[in-house]
Amino acid sequence: MASLKLSHIYKVYENGHKAVNDFSIDIADQEFIVFVGPSGCGKSTTLRMIAGLETITTGDMFIGDTLVNDMEPKDRDIAMVFQSYALYPHMTVYENMAFGLRNRKMPEDQIKERVMKAAKMLDIEDYLERQPKAMSGGQRQRVALGRALVRDPKVFLLDEPLSNLDAKLRAAMRTEITALHKSLKTTFIYVTHDQVEAMTMGTRIVVMKLGYVQQIDTPMNLYNSPYNKFVAGFIGTPQMNFFDVKLLRDGDDVIVTFANGDSIKVPYEKVSKIHDRYLHGDTTVTFGIRPEHVSIEKEGDGLKIIVTNVERLGNETNIYGKLGDQLGEFTMKDEGNNIIVKVVDRDDIEVGDVVYAVPNPNKVHFFDAETEVTLMEKIPPFNTIPAKAAGDKMQLLGESVVLPEVFKKALGGKDSFELTVPPASIVPGFDFALKVARIEKADDKRLAYLVNGDSYLFALVGEDVAEGDDYHFALQNEKINVVADGEEILKAVPDEESLEGRFTKTEVKENGDRVLHFFYKIGDYTLEAAPEQGYKINSVDGDACYKKTYRYSVNNDNIRIVDKAEEGLSAKVVELLDYSNICFAKLQADGQEFLIKVDPGFDEKEVRIAFDSKDVSVYSTTIDMKIC
Ligand code: ADP
Repeated sequence: MASLKLSHIYKVYENGHKAVNDFSIDIADQEFIVFVGPSGCGKSTTLRMIAGLETITTGDMFIGDTLVNDMEPKDRDIAMVFQSYALYPHMTVYENMAFGLRNRKMPEDQIKERVMKAAKMLDIEDYLERQPKAMSGGQRQRVALGRALVRDPKVFLLDEPLSNLDAKLRAAMRTEITALHKSLKTTFIYVTHDQVEAMTMGTRIVVMKLGYVQQIDTPMNLYNSPYNKFVAGFIGTPQMNFFDVKLLRDGDDVIVTFANGDSIKVPYEKVSKIHDRYLHGDTTVTFGIRPEHVSIEKEGDGLKIIVTNVERLGNETNIYGKLGDQLGEFTMKDEGNNIIVKVVDRDDIEVGDVVYAVPNPNKVHFFDAETEVTLMEKIPPFNTIPAKAAGDKMQLLGESVVLPEVFKKALGGKDSFELTVPPASIVPGFDFALKVARIEKADDKRLAYLVNGDSYLFALVGEDVAEGDDYHFALQNEKINVVADGEEILKAVPDEESLEGRFTKTEVKENGDRVLHFFYKIGDYTLEAAPEQGYKINSVDGDACYKKTYRYSVNNDNIRIVDKAEEGLSAKVVELLDYSNICFAKLQADGQEFLIKVDPGFDEKEVRIAFDSKDVSVYSTTIDMKIC
C-alpha cells in the first residue's frame, strides 16, 4: 500500500523528443488511476518512469515519502503487468508465478502459499501445471496478473493489459480487475488508449495528449465538465458533436446561433461563467453537445436536420443527420455540419426524414474557438470590471476608490478603462460590497457569485461567507491588468521574478575528500546552490551545464534587500510603482529588469538584493523545462 507523488516530471529522450512535459499528480493510497490518451501521448513512458524502467529527465517522484528517482526498479516494491504478458514460454504457470519469488530466495513453502492464494483469486488453480502456450489469451493475462500479485507489491502498474483480448473477454476482465483492486486495497495505475476502460475502472483519470496532461479528474467530472475540446471529444461514445456558433445575451437567455442561421436558447443562469466578451454575437465559439443530450422532434425549436443514417442497436438508436433539409454531396469529414443523436425507444425515424435536433439546454458545452479551452471553467480565469478615472479616484462597481499611481501613469490621461480581475485577487476589505447569490465548491476552494447588475462577479471566499450575505471586499491592484481602448496598457505583477544567469562549480578538499560546490551566477551575484539542486542540473545537462544559461525564478516575497557589505546582486532602481495598497520597485541589473516589493517610503537609487537558494526554481532556457 502506498501513495505516489509525481512533481514536475519531464522525459526528454536521447534523440531530443519531449515525450512527457511537466506531469504532476498526487496519488492517494488505494486509488485506481488510469492514464488515457491516443497512441504516442506519453502514457507508457510515464508508467515506465514510475516503474524505474526509464530514467526521469527532471522532476521528483516519490513512493510514499521516499524519493525514488534513482532507485532500482527491484527496490521500488512495484509490480508491472504488460500487454504482451511477458511470460516464460518453457515454464509452467506455477513456475512463471514463482519465478520472481525464487529469485528473491523466498522459502518454497511460502512461495507455494502465495502462488496458491493468487491462483485461487484469479481462478487459474486448474492450470498451474500447464505451459502458457496451451492457454487462451485471457488465461495468460491472468497468469501475468498472478505473477504481479504474488509479489504483494505496494503499487500495481498495468500497461494496456487487455489490448490483446477480444471485446467480450475485455469487458469481463475489466470487471475482474476492478474487483481485484477492491479486494487487494492497493494502488493501481493503469494505462489504456480505450476511454471505456478508463471510465469504467478509474477512480481518477489522467487524460494526456502529445506529452501533456489535459485534465486529471473523476470519470463523471471528465464527462460533465471537460476542460477542453480534446477531453470533451475523447470521453464518451459516440463522441460529442461540435459546431461553430455565435452567442448573444438576451435578458435571461443566451441565443446560440449556428452557421446555417438556426438558433437555440439557453438560460443565462446555466452559462453565466462565460465571459461577457463572448456574448455580444460577434465572436465565433465552439458549441458542444453529447449525442445523448439531444432529442429528436418532428417539429419545434432546434436544428433542422435531414437524417442520413439510422443505427438501431436494440436498446438505443444512433441517428446521423446533416444540418439543413437537403442531402448535399457526401463527405466523411464534415465536423460542424453533421450531428449524431443517441435516442432510446424511437423506431419512427427513417433516413431522409427532416426533423429537429433539440439540444438539452442544461447540458451544453462551449469552448474558445482558438484555444479550445472551455468557456465555463470551474473557476473563471478573470472578471472584467469597467472603470472611470476622475482625478485621484477611480469609479467602479458603484464606488469611488483611490486610483493607484501606476494605473494613472499607464492611462496617460485616458479616463475610461477596464480592469481584468482574477477571482483570487478579490479579497476581504472595505472598498466594495455585493450580494452573494450563490456559492459553489470548486476543487478545494469556494467560488462566490456576487451580483453585479445583470451578471456576476466571481470571487473566492472563505468558509465564513454564506449565500445571501453582503460580501465586503477590496481588489489587489497589483494582480490586475488594465485595458483601455481594447489594448492592455498595464500587466499584473507576476508572483515570480525570473533572472537569467550561469551555473558553475568548484571542487574543494574536505577532510581529504574532494567535494563539489555548485553556484548560480547572476551578474555580480554568486549564490551557492543546494547540493541536490546542483547535482540535478548536472545530471540533466551533463558538463554542458557549465556553458549554458539558466532561468532562476524566485517568488517576489522571497527577494530581500541586503546590506551593502553582504553578498547580493547590485541593481539600479529604475522606477517606483505605487499600487496604493502595496509598492514595488522596478530594478535593473545585469541588463535585466525585475520587480521587488518595497515599503511605501522607499527612495533608494541603488540596492543589493539577495535570496535563498532553496527558494529558487531553475528552468532550462534551451528547452522549456523546469529542472528543479
Ligand atoms: P503511449 O504509451 O501514450 O502510446 P509512449 O509513452 O510510448 O506513448 O511514447 C510517447 C512518445 O515518445 C512517442 O512519440 C514515442 O514515439 C516516443 N518514444 C517512446 N520511446 C522512445 C525512445 N526510446 N526514444 C525516442 N522516442 C521515444
